[in-house]
Amino acid sequence: MSLAMISISRFARDFGKSCVSELRLRPAVLLIFIVMTDCLFCKIIAGSIPSKKVYEDEKAFAFEDIKPVAPTHVLIIPKKHIVGIDQATEADAELVGYCQLVAAKIARERKLEHGFRTVYNVGPDAGQTVFHLHLHLLGGRQMHWPPG
Ligand code: 5GP
Ligand code: ZN
Repeated sequence: MSLAMISISRFARDFGKSCVSELRLRPAVLLIFIVMTDCLFCKIIAGSIPSKKVYEDEKAFAFEDIKPVAPTHVLIIPKKHIVGIDQATEADAELVGYCQLVAAKIARERKLEHGFRTVYNVGPDAGQTVFHLHLHLLGGRQMHWPPG
């Protein structure tokens, strides 16, 4: 391990200890803080990573997918950091459904009256690559079934 790596890991260890002892943060709170500051979609919500915003309210944020696979490809995410549907709890039920309603609202605004699809990818078999819950809104072309 290089000198720089040792210094960084010592800094992280000491910073973590001082957060717990001096700031009296509970370790679980500190862990959530670290996960959120390292999450791509939390950074997009905070505006520290730019995105093409489509919608925002106190509970949800929606933005254009960077690699669209349909003429409309919007991601709707809860502002609360939830890893995925498989990690969501009953306390998250309203948020999970709320993202669907935001998707329907965006679909109405975009006049997707011929139809659209909403998808939560969960885990590696479904191709989930970002671990902050996100609902894909796809529309503007014929969708196929079964999906690929
Ligand atoms: P998943 O594969 O996890 O279901 O979906 C993640 C989605 O996030 C993908 O469709 C991918 O194109 C999109 N994505 C990944 N990184 C970024 C980014 O930095 N900005 C935006 N706008 N979309 C992203
Ligand atoms: Zn997040």
